[in-house]
Formats: sequence, C-alpha cells, structure tokens
Amino acid sequence: MKTLKHRLSGGMGVMHDVIVLRSKLSSERDRKRFNGLKKLLAIDKLPIGNGYCDHAFSPSKSVCGHPTLCAGRSQDTSDILVNMKDLLIIGGGPAGVAAGVYAARKFLQTTLIAEEIGGQSIVSEGIENWVGTPKLTGVELAKNLKAHLAAVAEGRVEMVSDRVVSLEKAGDAFVAKTKSGKEFSARAVLITSGASRRKLDVPGADKFENKGVTYCASCDGPLFAGQDVAVVGGGNAGFETALQLLAYCKSVILLHRHKEFKADPISIEKARAHPNMRILPNAEPVEVLGEQFVSGLKYKDKDSGEIKELAVSGIFVEAGVMPNTDFAKNLLTLDTVGRIIVNPKNQRTSVAGVWAAGDATDELYHQNNIAAGDGVKALEDIYLWLKMR
Ligand SMILES: Cc1cc2nc3c(=O)[nH]c(=O)nc-3n(C[C@H](O)[C@H](O)[C@H](O)COP(=O)(O)OP(=O)(O)OC[C@H]3O[C@@H](n4cnc5c(N)ncnc54)[C@H](O)[C@@H]3O)c2cc1C
Repeated sequence: MKTLKHRLSGGMGVMHDVIVLRSKLSSERDRKRFNGLKKLLAIDKLPIGNGYCDHAFSPSKSVCGHPTLCAGRSQDTSDILVNMKDLLIIGGGPAGVAAGVYAARKFLQTTLIAEEIGGQSIVSEGIENWVGTPKLTGVELAKNLKAHLAAVAEGRVEMVSDRVVSLEKAGDAFVAKTKSGKEFSARAVLITSGASRRKLDVPGADKFENKGVTYCASCDGPLFAGQDVAVVGGGNAGFETALQLLAYCKSVILLHRHKEFKADPISIEKARAHPNMRILPNAEPVEVLGEQFVSGLKYKDKDSGEIKELAVSGIFVEAGVMPNTDFAKNLLTLDTVGRIIVNPKNQRTSVAGVWAAGDATDELYHQNNIAAGDGVKALEDIYLWLKMR
C-alpha cells in the first residue's frame, strides 16, 4: 500500500485522505465521518470491478469499507486510484510539450495524450522564428520537443499516443476517453489540441500539396520569389498572405469565392494599391493543374459561369483553420468557429479545472512561440490551483 500511497501523493504532496461519492457527503452521518479530512475527493461514481461502488473508502487501505459488496475487489479500486493523475494534457504541439516540461519540473503527475508529438509545423521545411534556433525543419522541431520532454519526464509525465474523443467531468475530476477505448482521469486538464488547416477541396490539391500547394506563407513564401502565385481566401489571413508575398513574388492573384471580402478594409486597400496584385471576387477554385509541380489553377467565374485558368506556380491556401475541439464541445464554451474561449491572463476556460492553450483557443495569433508561451502560462496557473485545493 505504500507504493499506492506514494503514487497518489504525487510530487506536490497532494494526497486524498478519502475518495468518496459526492452523494454520500450529503448525509449527516457521512459529513461527520469525513469532517476534518482536508483532501477529500468527491466523485460521482466509483468504478470497481465491472460495476460501480457507492461506498466511501480510504486509499491508504485501498479497499472499500463495505463488508460484502466490494470486499475482495481492492485491486480494481487501486488501479482506478493510481490512474487518477494531477494533470491531463491533451495535445503534443509546442503548447502541450511546453506545459509538459513545466509539469514535470513541478513534479505534477501528468498524462500527455497526443496523436503525434510536434504539432502543425512538423511539415515545414524551414522554421526561422523559433526563438533560440535561427533555422530548423518542422521534423527537427518535433524531435527537439520530444527529446526535451523525455529528458525531464522522469516517470512523472507519461506520454500516450492516442486521440481523445471525449472529455467529461466526473465529480471533482475529469475523464478523457480515447479512440483506442482507454480512459484517463485527472484533477485538472489542459487542452492543447491545436488546429488543422482547412484544406483546399478540389481535384489536384492533395496531389500537389508541398509541390506548389501550400498552407503556410511565412514558411514557404520565399521559395516562390520572382514567380506568379495565387492566394485562395478573402479573409484577413488571405490578404495578409498576399501582402507578404508581394514583397518577393512577381505577381499575386487573390481568389475569393464570395462577392464581399471578410478582411479589414485597410488590408484590402493596401493590396489593391499594389501594381502586381490582382483580386478576383466571386471566383471558386475548381482544379489544381500541373505535371510534377503546380503549373496553374482552374476556377469558376461565378458572375459569368465561365471556367477560367490562371498560370501560377504556387497556390497559398488561407481558407481558415478548424480547431481540434470536438471532444470538448459538450463541456466547454466555444466561440462560433469552435475555438475554446479562454481568459488570456491565465488560460482558464469556462469550466473550473480545465485550461486551454495554443491554436485550439480564441488566441488571435497562431505561432509556435505563442502556443508554447500560452502552455507555460496555463501550467503556472494549474500548479497554483492544484496546490490551493
Ligand atoms: C505548415 C505550417 C507551417 C507553420 N510554420 C510556422 C512557423 O514557421 N513559425 C511559427 O511560429 N508558426 C508556424 N506555424 C503555426 C504553428 O505551427 C502553430 O501556431 C502551432 O503549432 C500551434 O501549436 P499548438 O500546440 O497550439 O497546436 P498544434 O501544433 O496544432 O498541436 C496540436 C497537438 O494536438 C494533437 N491532437 C489534436 N487533436 C487531438 C486529439 N483529439 N487527441 C489527442 N491529441 C490531439 C496533435 O497530434 C498535436 O500533437 C505553421 C503552421 C503550419 C500549418
């Protein structure tokens, strides 16, 4: 039992004297019984064996006090208890890994679940703004993040390769279920599941991805210096990308599928004023053309109904991002596009005990350094919150 006690205590000295069903706390007898226990974890259901125990028990004994129903099932119970961590981090991009490193150094018993360590920029050929490293590839960044986490984890941060499909509150704790059918519970959760770029959904777009079709102007733009390129998307990201590309591309054509642009008027005016810029409203991409690399883009002129062709060697898609937050939509408040709304001072979400950081949140700017910083900010707050409980 010493081992269980030790594992339950974590590095912070957090130790639950008793884990009890919340419903039991309402009775006068139980309130008296638990009076004086500072670290009482109230949960809704206590899984035991194949069913649920509704009795209080002490982790120092690891058995339910009930004489008949739960006696002899202590092993199942202790498994559940051992799996209850201080913190669950969902996601292994810069935000999740930064938080994981801090969690390990603060001795928080943590599970980090991620489909893949590294994050969105893993596909990038050159990242030139990761502070402290003048240039590295996305794969190198991912390798460094993984190595840093492994170096400090020391049995405190368990890395699980899986996809979270649901997150629920269970009493004072949270339970995440994964694609492979496993369950992970913790007293606090940090969501860093990032976002996925909305892909260009036309024939040829997949085939020519990274062969002229790209989703990151700051990474790939310079590769198209002196060439004719297209930008797909009429929001702020589309116009900002176009303005960025105008600095070194021969010409930039921006296509937007609607008549009205969503971007700020100032960005639209700036782009319009540039002699090498062409703007095509009501233009719907229909096919990416090329042999080995992109050589053109077919689009439908929605005003005339005609299919037209542009000779371009690069297509920059800025059709927005989709946050990976589906698993949290029933628990947390999201904005209209599904991003988790956070308090930018501490990364807290609408639910006490759940934090979020990086591209999964309503943070305005999407960058590796920002995601990592937000992850660290969240972790500092989580640590204090856990300690105060
Ligand atoms: C092609 C490209 C190039 C870029 N280049 C740069 C650059 O040069 N410089 C820069 O600063 N920024 C760049 N960015 C932006 C930068 O990558 C993001 O801002 C940053 O990765 C956000 O980090 P994050 O940790 O919030 O999320 P992400 O990096 O999106 O990481 C999300 C993590 O969560 C995991 N995940 C997702 N859903 C689940 C789930 N349900 N369960 C478990 N795990 C899940 C993923 O596997 C991943 O580990 C680039 C982006 C792209 C797409």
